[in-house]
Amino acid sequence: MGKGRRSVAVIGGGAGGLCAAIAAAEVGAQVTVYERSNRVGKKLLKTGNGRCNLSHDPVTPEDYNRPDFVESVLSRWDNAALLDFFRSLGLYTVKDGEGRCYPLSDTASSVLDVLRLRCQALGVEEQCSMELRSLGQRRGRWVLRFTEGQEAECDRVIVAGGGGTALLKEAGHRMVPFSPILCPLKTDTAPIRGLSGLRCRCRVTLLRDGRRIYAESGEILFRDYGVSGIVILNLSRLARKGDVLSVNLLPDWDEAQIQAMLAERKGRGSEMFTGVFHRRIGEAILRNAGSEDSAALYAAVTALRLRVEDTADAANAQVTRGGAAVDEFDSATLESRLRQGLYCIGEALDIDGKCGGYNLHWAFASGLTAGRSAAND
Ligand SMILES: Cc1cc2nc3c(=O)[nH]c(=O)nc-3n(C[C@H](O)[C@H](O)[C@H](O)COP(=O)(O)OP(=O)(O)OC[C@H]3O[C@@H](n4cnc5c(N)ncnc54)[C@H](O)[C@@H]3O)c2cc1C
Repeated sequence: MGKGRRSVAVIGGGAGGLCAAIAAAEVGAQVTVYERSNRVGKKLLKTGNGRCNLSHDPVTPEDYNRPDFVESVLSRWDNAALLDFFRSLGLYTVKDGEGRCYPLSDTASSVLDVLRLRCQALGVEEQCSMELRSLGQRRGRWVLRFTEGQEAECDRVIVAGGGGTALLKEAGHRMVPFSPILCPLKTDTAPIRGLSGLRCRCRVTLLRDGRRIYAESGEILFRDYGVSGIVILNLSRLARKGDVLSVNLLPDWDEAQIQAMLAERKGRGSEMFTGVFHRRIGEAILRNAGSEDSAALYAAVTALRLRVEDTADAANAQVTRGGAAVDEFDSATLESRLRQGLYCIGEALDIDGKCGGYNLHWAFASGLTAGRSAAND
């Protein structure tokens, strides 16, 4: 390590870690990124189905599970500031009609490329196939021990190991238990029998003991075990076993329009919904209503009820809830309140956001914040 320059170790070369490395190196620190995989940024390449939904316009604290904690970082790194940062690295971005931001190239590799190029230009050292096993302190410096027996020392450590990282537990931090979120939901399947593979624009309301917890409109995808789609991924952050999803299959129609449609088609039997819904959805509505009574049909169209049993396909969940408890970190610098010189960012903290660019935004923004703090404070 060069004399006089502060050394910063970043544990994990993912979205947050690479931004932390850039921010620390930009203010003169000597930075090393340690990555357990054989390459940095592998997960980044898979995001947004290979397109990388890197941020959202706008991003607000309420889009996350701990609004009070993320507020300080987001006030400095809002959507515009983050896109400006990427622009300064040479990345052009575009926004879709829902506010989701993507690289203009439409490929996640562009995002990784500009981050890596900037790291190289700043002299950030990348050490791959280096999995941190433990963190300790010796004579005021941090000692990093890796699974293959290597050791390294540094002045500051930024833990950027992503979801499921338990590295901070050993450093004395309280860990919130991990659970998969942003994944499909397993529900009772009788009301959606025969619908697997169909997509439908709906409004889904999450009910707990009859109380409305959350509602969102968008496309859902029926699966043989339950439901999927972006709306459902967002609901999976809040849903618990026993909750009910109430699905309105005609979210853009008002009651009078739906009642008029039902009255006009009365007596058509199995053809009642031809021209309105996919044939199989029409059949499911008739089956769920149990009769041609207009109140029963109206309820089957606007409040299809599915009881939540569990999250599904957890191995492919986009985000892991849980991680280092945020009350033990300074929300402005992301430094540990328990161990000076130790920082934590991204998904390694107990922060999760909605689907739509919010999780990457947090990883990037928290990385930029901690990198700057670790190099300066
Ligand atoms: C399929 C998929 C698609 C997604 N799409 C989107 C999307 O489009 N938009 C969005 O906002 N979010 C998306 N997400 C979520 C987003 O990818 C994560 O929230 C984000 O990557 C978290 O960034 P991070 O830097 O905290 O962790 P990560 O990106 O997970 O990086 C952590 C890095 O640390 C390394 N590491 C872990 N432990 C150690 C250790 N002990 N020693 C050394 N290295 C270690 C890992 O190998 C990894 O490279 C998606 C997730 C998935 C799985």
